[in-house]
Amino acid sequence: RNIRPRASSAVSVSRAFSTLPEPDGVKEPGFLEQVQYFFDQASGLTTHDRTICEFIKTPKNIIELSFPLRRETPNGDLKWELIQGWRCQHSYHRMPTKGGIRFHPMTDRQETMALATLMTFKCAAVDVPFGGAKGGIRIDPKKYTPAELETITRRYTAELIKKHYIGPGTDVPAPDVGTNEKIMSWLLSTYQAMASDAVDASACVTGKPVSQGGIRGRTEATGLGVYYTVRDVLNDADLTKKAGISMGLEGKKVVVLGFGNVGYHSALFLVENGAKLVGVGEWNSGVWNPDGINPEQLNAYKNAHGNSLKGFPGAKKEFSRAEDMLGLDCDVLIPAALEGQINMSNANDIKAKVIAEAANGPITIGGEQILEKKNVIIIPDVWCNAGGVTVSYFEWLKNLSHVRFGRMTKQYDMYSKRDLLMLIEEKLGKKFSEKEYNLVVRGADELDLVRSGLDYTMRNAFQQIKSISVSKNTSLRSAAYVASIDKIAGTLSTLGIWP
Ligand code: GLU
Repeated sequence: RNIRPRASSAVSVSRAFSTLPEPDGVKEPGFLEQVQYFFDQASGLTTHDRTICEFIKTPKNIIELSFPLRRETPNGDLKWELIQGWRCQHSYHRMPTKGGIRFHPMTDRQETMALATLMTFKCAAVDVPFGGAKGGIRIDPKKYTPAELETITRRYTAELIKKHYIGPGTDVPAPDVGTNEKIMSWLLSTYQAMASDAVDASACVTGKPVSQGGIRGRTEATGLGVYYTVRDVLNDADLTKKAGISMGLEGKKVVVLGFGNVGYHSALFLVENGAKLVGVGEWNSGVWNPDGINPEQLNAYKNAHGNSLKGFPGAKKEFSRAEDMLGLDCDVLIPAALEGQINMSNANDIKAKVIAEAANGPITIGGEQILEKKNVIIIPDVWCNAGGVTVSYFEWLKNLSHVRFGRMTKQYDMYSKRDLLMLIEEKLGKKFSEKEYNLVVRGADELDLVRSGLDYTMRNAFQQIKSISVSKNTSLRSAAYVASIDKIAGTLSTLGIWP
């Protein structure tokens, strides 16, 4: 059924790009309503009790907090600024609840609830045993000094502790848009200073630096997972046939919109495995080259030029913003920024045959309806970007078990540590310290384990989703939701519903 997206009083969904209302003034629904619409579409394909489905869909708890921050103005005066934040716990069918914390100037209550909802179905899709949650602070992190960011993070964490919204078995935050491992270590140290369950404290947050109980491979996990999903879809005979595209990743033209941590690592792994990166867009700049762009060089250029791609020597053509690049000729399009990037005002321009939702909620309902008519294969966010939370789960397990993750791989088993050191030194022609040995041999070992675990998890989810999409003749998105709803309803019925 072709729905006419309703005009809505909810916040506009489009953030990365401004979605202007259609000429007749119709605006698409807010982000939370969109996610709930996708849920309703899928739950309609199941036989679960309607009320239980409503219960599964509804966010269970949200806190809203605000606190004043004292800032120094350029001329040395002090002024107060009010900081606003949220944390939403969407589902308690499995504990703890889990999801990132976003620092963004457009973050609000609705967005936090929508993102928490997505986390529940994302975790279930990849069999990660957590309920969904999400947090956000409405600031532009680029406009604050590191010391101010630290104050904001610690105060936010203190509020979470006070309200029982953080803890290894309660609710476990992680990075998201605008946050990173440094911010996670501030969360951890605030928690360690204030909370009582000190022995397991490091499991109160994931995405930490490796030196603080983090796990190797977490930083690039979401991007690596995106690559696995694109690989699996392009190796699938039915899906590629439907989209009218040849099988396999080799030589496929890819455009990535949003070149933060997730966009960059998606591009990196896709190129490493044979794809050709022809376009990269950011909110303030974009580059195109049909002969291919080197993602490492572009990332280094971006970091050295104030977060802009402008002037990159490897470009044949430049754009002033990602929005203008949706219509570029490519096989795979990867929206990797914010929600609502692809919507009813621009979906018609898209030439890609496959869209991988590296971001959360990048395609609106109106956008999806247009793309489905064009037989575009959409790799849904709840599967596509689940690599991050999957490796967060490994990190949490590592922290709780208090053991070193990893083992010597077979090929090294027969060597003593001394022999192995000599072997490496001989191969590389340079001396190795004990510290480097631990980093290279043991580090690679943990990384191997993380990557193979992630690969297995993503593949397994694909098999489940694909088989539901065939048996119910539905999109990968609806199939992923059906898989998740079935699992959550199953958990609830075995747990029993109290009271
Ligand atoms: N923020 C990431 C997401 O949207 C990761 C969440 C986590 O690792 O808990 O999936």
